[in-house]
Amino acid sequence: MPHYKVAIVGAGPSGYFAAQALQNLVTEDLTFAIDMIERLPTPWGLVRSGVAPDHPKIKTVAKVFEKIASDSNFRLFGNIELGKELSLADLTNKYDAVIMATGSAIGKKLGIPGEELNNSISAAEFVPWYNGHPDFAEFKIDLSGKVAVVIGAGNVAMDCARMLAVNPAELDETDTADHALEAMHKSNIRKVFITGRRGAEFASFTAPELRDLPKLEHTDVYISQDALALAYKNAEAKGEIEKHLASNLEAMKLITETPKQGHERSLEFLFSHTPKEILGNEKVEAIVYSTPSGDVTIPCDLVITAIGYESEAIPGIIFEKGKIANIDGRVIGSNIYAVGWAKRGPSGVIGTNKSDAAEVISLLVSDLKEPKNNGDVTDLINTSHKIVDQEYWARINQAEISAGEARGKPRVKAVSVSELLRLGQP
Ligand code: NAP
Repeated sequence: MPHYKVAIVGAGPSGYFAAQALQNLVTEDLTFAIDMIERLPTPWGLVRSGVAPDHPKIKTVAKVFEKIASDSNFRLFGNIELGKELSLADLTNKYDAVIMATGSAIGKKLGIPGEELNNSISAAEFVPWYNGHPDFAEFKIDLSGKVAVVIGAGNVAMDCARMLAVNPAELDETDTADHALEAMHKSNIRKVFITGRRGAEFASFTAPELRDLPKLEHTDVYISQDALALAYKNAEAKGEIEKHLASNLEAMKLITETPKQGHERSLEFLFSHTPKEILGNEKVEAIVYSTPSGDVTIPCDLVITAIGYESEAIPGIIFEKGKIANIDGRVIGSNIYAVGWAKRGPSGVIGTNKSDAAEVISLLVSDLKEPKNNGDVTDLINTSHKIVDQEYWARINQAEISAGEARGKPRVKAVSVSELLRLGQP
């Protein structure tokens, strides 16, 4: 009976859904040994370091990941970095298939003057910072000014804007990293702009996220009636408004109709604002937009760019347009496959990865030949290196949850690799 070894690189949603798709294909005649390799001592990828702390429901998908990991055909190899502890060639030699579920972690740049000024940062830094990703524990952000601008009309921009605009007391019972929560409590930011370069009808926010905004207890949210009317007009001019857009516009209408409370904190949407230049002496002082009615300058103290992501290069793999060069997930001429954002670019919600991974896995299985009999990852890693396996991770997880219980939070995240490894010590 054929028994295949599959390595999955990256323990985020697309990696787990790829493992699940393999598990779903197991029969008496076809079995898999699935080894998941992760650079950090913690799995779950964006569910841990991307999803906003005030959206805990989205994180419940981690229970599905843990169920996948509990199968006897699955092993976690955390704290193992491709290119350091082992190479891609090691994996392709030993495994029948290697699935790259490595995501896209680099924030796209605007390419405008002033982008490099201090306090002009990327969502790709801000989000992992407030979520306690070890790589960003020392990241510096200055929240001493009053006005922040977030560029981009997608859900990541919305997360960033909301995290800056809420009263930090609303985050006390979340798993926001302690260093970020402390900075947010001291923050002077009171006005947050979120800007889209096109009209509201083109915004890529999703309606549930927009509908959450009028519920904010300490923040007034503004969308101009004129911008919304124009969006309806433009959308209607193209014929019947499709369902997704209709719910988005409806959710924006709810925002315009919600009475403002005169809160000290506000979040304001600006559409048809194309960033042109960031101004300042060393540090951000203002941003200039071109708009249909001419250039507009907004004085501000912080600029966060949230305009999409691209993948980090991995030696031995060709990247094209910010993602792994692939055809339907196949990396041509190899036994490598790509899933998730590494495959299709940074689009879709967590659930999108489930059907996407299932499609790639069915191609992968159709490509399988004679099983390899060439050992596995355990032959490659130096015995002195600390591997975070599922049991080790379970101890880290439990330690964080216990620390959270004492403080009325879902967990308190450890934010350094050494502390994570200490928490999981047997
Ligand atoms: P996104 O949805 O693709 O939005 C990117 C935004 O950046 C768009 O508004 C785009 O405008 C704008 N943009 C791109 N280049 C620009 C430029 N040079 N200048 C100004 N604006 C520019 O990407 P995302 O927000 O990073 O989200 C990635 C994926 O994760 C999305 O599928 C999102 O729904 C998902 N996500 C979901 C949740 C959730 O479910 N709660 C949370 C976070 C993320 P144009 O349209 O004009 O190009």
